[in-house]
Amino acid sequence: MMTRRVSNWLLFLRLKAVLAALFLLPALAAQVAQSPPTATVVKAGRLLDPRTGNVLSPAAVLIEGDKIKQVGLPSQINALAGVTVIDLGSATLLPGLIDGHTHLFLNIIVPNEVEQDRHANGLFAPGMLLAIVESPSKRVLMAAQLAREDLESGITTVRNLGHSGIDGDTELRDAINAGHLPGPRILASGRKLITLGMYVQNLNPALADVIVQQEFLLIAGVDRAREAVRQNEFQNVDVIKVSADENLTVPELASAIEEAHRQHLKVAVHAVDKTSIQTAIDAGADSIEHGNDVTDEQLKQMRDKGIFFDLTPTFYGGGYLKIAEPIIVIPPANRAATAKSAERGKQKYDALVQRVLKSGVKFSTGSDMCWFYPGKTRGQASTLTFVHLGEAGMGALDVIQAVTINGAEMLGWGDRIGAVEPGKFADLVAVSGDPLTDITELERVRFVMKGGEVVRNDLVAH
Ligand SMILES: [Zn+2]
Repeated sequence: MMTRRVSNWLLFLRLKAVLAALFLLPALAAQVAQSPPTATVVKAGRLLDPRTGNVLSPAAVLIEGDKIKQVGLPSQINALAGVTVIDLGSATLLPGLIDGHTHLFLNIIVPNEVEQDRHANGLFAPGMLLAIVESPSKRVLMAAQLAREDLESGITTVRNLGHSGIDGDTELRDAINAGHLPGPRILASGRKLITLGMYVQNLNPALADVIVQQEFLLIAGVDRAREAVRQNEFQNVDVIKVSADENLTVPELASAIEEAHRQHLKVAVHAVDKTSIQTAIDAGADSIEHGNDVTDEQLKQMRDKGIFFDLTPTFYGGGYLKIAEPIIVIPPANRAATAKSAERGKQKYDALVQRVLKSGVKFSTGSDMCWFYPGKTRGQASTLTFVHLGEAGMGALDVIQAVTINGAEMLGWGDRIGAVEPGKFADLVAVSGDPLTDITELERVRFVMKGGEVVRNDLVAH
């Protein structure tokens, strides 16, 4: 009896489910069919196409859902009645900005002199060590704030290249994509691949392994290199980051790159000195990060192989002093020395920018922002570094290309971001002036839209 009653009950439940499916599903389907994706028209005095440098004036962009549907003169746009219109007046529209190299999970306070000595003595910046050994929960909450600040300054996509703990950047990416938090699109690298010689020389040997594993994957031999990439693939990363130094061999790096490419992941290689840059070129890196000591011959090789040069003018023209001054007291003697070395660095960087432009190598840029910058949000500090490229002698259109179409191509996302074109994500920013005559406009983004949603609009009420 009991059994019979239970089975009847189950039958009833099943029947109920079938009935629900029969009646509810068509109703739901009808609802979906009745509500087309939300449509918005953004109008502005000017729209700059970074691909060509052409300016459309006046301009309108029709957005459906999270994509751009049509771009043209306002009279050419086929918007249905009732569409939301955002009129930005005389402002200039641009594609959302792309930061090709950042560190959302680091907010290091510039080390004072004692810490700098320790750094020189052991190659491990205490500020970075603190970030690793502090609570990962605390770290991810900070990263969420910095991500929001980037977006509010018009950076709608970032490539986060390491220093996120084991899974910080992939989890933050997923939370933003799921709509839990505001932030840019994130291409996450997971842990940075390094050789044992980097970063880790003065750690307590009894604890070193545990600490290192929180932040890095070690390369020691071609098999370990391949395995390190696979560990990151397990975390569902978007890109692989390797730091090259003199200890890294071409076969080790080539092995990591081969494994990454097998999984359609690009490989960004940190390389500053000539030897590391050559290793990255010979192993077939997709982008070389920083690249400060590159030779003209190496630029030629990069151009021929299609390797991107990712410029990082983070501390251009004494930026370090600007960050350090409000935090620490710099003795007058050191101040003079620091100013002098900043001037030398500036001249060298000006020459680098000219050599990069002349070489015909593909280039983009990244803030490499990992510092606490007094008085600025993370977004303001990051866009300032884009402006540094202009100060270093790069033309305004080249700078804008670096942070839009070029950045998109370097990330392998040329089909979805970097331009205001039909089919691309509706990631737009607007500035009130003309960025072609004043590149510092990039520091004052007044309107931000990501995926069709307005993040910020200081231009007009709508
Ligand atoms: Zn970096």
